[in-house]
Amino acid sequence: MIEHSRVIMHADMDAFYASVEQRDHPELRGRPLAVGGASARGVVAAASYEARRFGVRSAMPSVEAKRRCPQLTFVRGNMALYKKESARLFQIFKEFSPIVERVSLDEAFLDLTGSARLMGPAKQVGQQLRQQVHQQMSLPISVGIAPIKMVAKIASAAAKPDGLLEVTASEVQRFLEPLPVGRIWGVGPIAQEHLEELGFHTIGDVARATTDDLRHALGDWGVEIAQLARGQDIREVEAYREAVSYSEEHTFAQDITEKHELEPLVREHAESVARRLRHDGVRAHTVVLKWKSAQRRAPGARGYPVFTRRTTLAQPTDDGRTIAEHATHLLYRSGPDGAIRLLGVGCTGLTSDSVDQLPLFGASTDARRSTLNRTVDQITQRFGNKAIGALARKDREQVGLSMQIKRGDEPDG
Ligand SMILES: [Mg+2]
Repeated sequence: MIEHSRVIMHADMDAFYASVEQRDHPELRGRPLAVGGASARGVVAAASYEARRFGVRSAMPSVEAKRRCPQLTFVRGNMALYKKESARLFQIFKEFSPIVERVSLDEAFLDLTGSARLMGPAKQVGQQLRQQVHQQMSLPISVGIAPIKMVAKIASAAAKPDGLLEVTASEVQRFLEPLPVGRIWGVGPIAQEHLEELGFHTIGDVARATTDDLRHALGDWGVEIAQLARGQDIREVEAYREAVSYSEEHTFAQDITEKHELEPLVREHAESVARRLRHDGVRAHTVVLKWKSAQRRAPGARGYPVFTRRTTLAQPTDDGRTIAEHATHLLYRSGPDGAIRLLGVGCTGLTSDSVDQLPLFGASTDARRSTLNRTVDQITQRFGNKAIGALARKDREQVGLSMQIKRGDEPDG
């Protein structure tokens, strides 16, 4: 079996419905709050953290909740609003990975495998995602990061409220070991009881048992849960796409401080990334600018901090000039404020259903640019990569035209 080390993020809003209500109704903040019906047959749909301190939980009968917390405030809730907020949330998720698996309205797995080169270390990406949710939605969210989904989910629960916890591959076993067997996916209350009768109380107990013992006691199911208990799970985040991002970067021989000196490089990288997008028949929703500061923060090759800034486009693109424009904007608006040693441009938020779906308005301009890009790509293919370097430094349309002219008298192709 090939061992792929994956990077999975589980992102989950804290007390979602209750948090939305507290955000929109300041008088409810800091108070025990339940979203749900207060009537005799009502059930708690969500409980604020203030209410949880009294033992109020979601799915609890409202009567029981009121008994545990007499000062509990009930609000009926507004599902249409929560759905709208959920759509905003998933829009943010999509900026961070094209592989987003929805678990519920306020919860998803994001596959970050392979995006570290572009987006930076997973923990940093997780913090950025939390920041985005705070800034755009004013709501708390918790994030768990781990090599497997089950552990990422347990980690996000452990990080609550409003926190982040990363469990690296080498920490997985130690993290799982003390947890009750009931935390293993697929082990419900009845199975847990059964396992405990057999002497398996913690996940560590299961992880340490031999395969033979487990098969003997529990059949194939025992072997399956033992894999989970050992932190081995090959279940991937669904909605998988081959490439998660395209990027190109350059390390300088000498550090660069002046932004205008970086502009040509931004354009060059943008064009190169765009060509690869077109080659693979995909378009990107998100443009990323990345740089490495020349200011060392720690010893070793990894001691230079890496930064990324991203922007999301209204329409997905595979056009180098569009990518360059956005990346250049990021460079000036929120780019480096000192000397840097590396610069990169990347695209993520990929979509493959684009070529025939150009926007109705302004279609002619987009379609023209699209045709032009494809023409240049064909020529580049015929004349090889040598043409690329020269292309990238000039204006896209000018170059495209000049290449088209050249095409008539191709002497030495
Ligand atoms: Mg939640």
